[in-house]
Amino acid sequence: MAPTSCSLCRDAKAILKRPKTGQQICKDCFFFVFETEVHHTITEAQLFKSGDRVAIGASGGKDSTVLAYVMKTLNDRYNYGLELFLLSIDEGITGYRDDSLETVKRNQQQYDMPLKILSYDELYGWTMDAIVEQIGKKNNCTFCGVFRRQALDRGANSLKVDHIVTGHNADDIAETVLMNIMRGDIARLGRCTSICTQGEDTIKRSKPFKYAYEKEIVMYAYFKKLDYFSTECIYSPDAYRGHARTFLKDLEAARPSAIIDIIHSGEAFEVKEEIKAAQKAQQTCKRCGYMSSNDFCKACTLLEGLERGMASSVITDRARKKMDAMGPTPENLRTIPLFRSTPTITVEMPSQS
Ligand code: SF4
Ligand code: ZN
Ligand code: ZN
Repeated sequence: MAPTSCSLCRDAKAILKRPKTGQQICKDCFFFVFETEVHHTITEAQLFKSGDRVAIGASGGKDSTVLAYVMKTLNDRYNYGLELFLLSIDEGITGYRDDSLETVKRNQQQYDMPLKILSYDELYGWTMDAIVEQIGKKNNCTFCGVFRRQALDRGANSLKVDHIVTGHNADDIAETVLMNIMRGDIARLGRCTSICTQGEDTIKRSKPFKYAYEKEIVMYAYFKKLDYFSTECIYSPDAYRGHARTFLKDLEAARPSAIIDIIHSGEAFEVKEEIKAAQKAQQTCKRCGYMSSNDFCKACTLLEGLERGMASSVITDRARKKMDAMGPTPENLRTIPLFRSTPTITVEMPSQS
């Protein structure tokens, strides 16, 4: 049988079937359409302006490695005028994050970008290994997610960046839409498809891969021979998300456009004004200065739970009450440094070797 020619350039031999559209195309056309779609996502949402300092949340995994490569490519090709940084969070997971950070350090050399690594240990005095030792493998992702969010903002703050971009892809967002529907979390459902989020006093965050399929990101990394780390975290990921993921993969197998369709459905939801109004106003945490909808931010509450040896009971909304019932906060409690107190820039520059 004669080889199929690329359905886009009609010239080269088609060597892959595009997961998003089913088109048979050549490698160069695949690179071009993938990059151009991300460029359109960026320009349509007007994510950046010339001169912005942008941190790429880098874990060494496929999504953030491809994001760093594509951001650099598009910044050069279309003269975005951005100053790009790599920002990594070291959760302190032996045998996982220590190895993946080695990949980020190589990416720093390969892409010639400054890198900042901020660890849970230096910020909170706890590694995920130590947290799991205290609480076991249940709810560990709740601690990790809350701590990572704040660590990214603090790392970005010390780099004095205007914007953080993360490698969340279309599959991640469609899963989140499904999870919010299944949980009936209407307030989050209303926000979860936004490409860009910025609360008062927070650094802008966005997802340039909002419409990029996970399978295409893997394919891009594979054909570009990018250096990334593919091992899963040794601590069990969120089981509930796992159900949404399996369901989404089944839907995708039956109809590839299901992923984009779910995102579009999420975007089209109108959240009632009274639900929006019921959301608590943002204030700053009385202990660490980070934004919070309560007197103390989630990270401070979780950290206090760890310090007081009652972490497993502080993941609910009534955490503060439970802790107060145990007696006053001990004086010698380790706390998180004050947010925005002394912004400094400490980055490792790529060596000239
Ligand atoms: Fe953290 Fe859970 Fe992700 Fe592991 S799977 S890095 S514990 S959020
Ligand atoms: Zn082609
Ligand atoms: Zn706090």
